Amino acid sequence: MNAVTRPNVAAESEAEKRMPYKHPQPKESPPEVVIPDAIPKDERVWVPQAENVWFRPLLLSASRGYWQNILRVRKSGVLSRHRHPQPVHGFVLKGKWRYLEHDWVATEGGYVYEAPGETHTLVVDEDVEEMMTLFQVNGAMIYVDPDGNVRGYEDVFTKIDMCRKHYEAVGLGADYVDQFIR
Ligand code: FE
Repeated sequence: MNAVTRPNVAAESEAEKRMPYKHPQPKESPPEVVIPDAIPKDERVWVPQAENVWFRPLLLSASRGYWQNILRVRKSGVLSRHRHPQPVHGFVLKGKWRYLEHDWVATEGGYVYEAPGETHTLVVDEDVEEMMTLFQVNGAMIYVDPDGNVRGYEDVFTKIDMCRKHYEAVGLGADYVDQFIR
């Protein structure tokens, strides 16, 4: 018996293992997105979203209603209180941050899952120069007051709109955002 658990896939010879798939991709499957500088060299790629808060779009999924972005917050930045109707996945690339509603701190190298129904306020404290976190946000962010009354929302379409306006204003062109949309 082999001690290593392997997926239930028929064995291939060494030569077969390195043979590429011979057929076209399905025609309904859109092209892949490949971004060499996920943390951009060009400062203009960061889209400002509040004081000391920016996002860098990576994938704006108009067809499935989610977005994948890097959130950057410099010290004392606050991401307004919001509720998530759908799950969020986060991976901390740099620095640390916390939610006013929880007693844990998300630190560099850490992974965070936020369940549907979560309402929270993201803060970066004075002792942190800068944090960057890769977030996949599904559906929407519903901005609320401390009692949960709705003040506004963001979804993939408002994100696309923000990017368009910003990229137009900084000279990259409104269509710069198109490369991230699928
Ligand atoms: Fe959140």
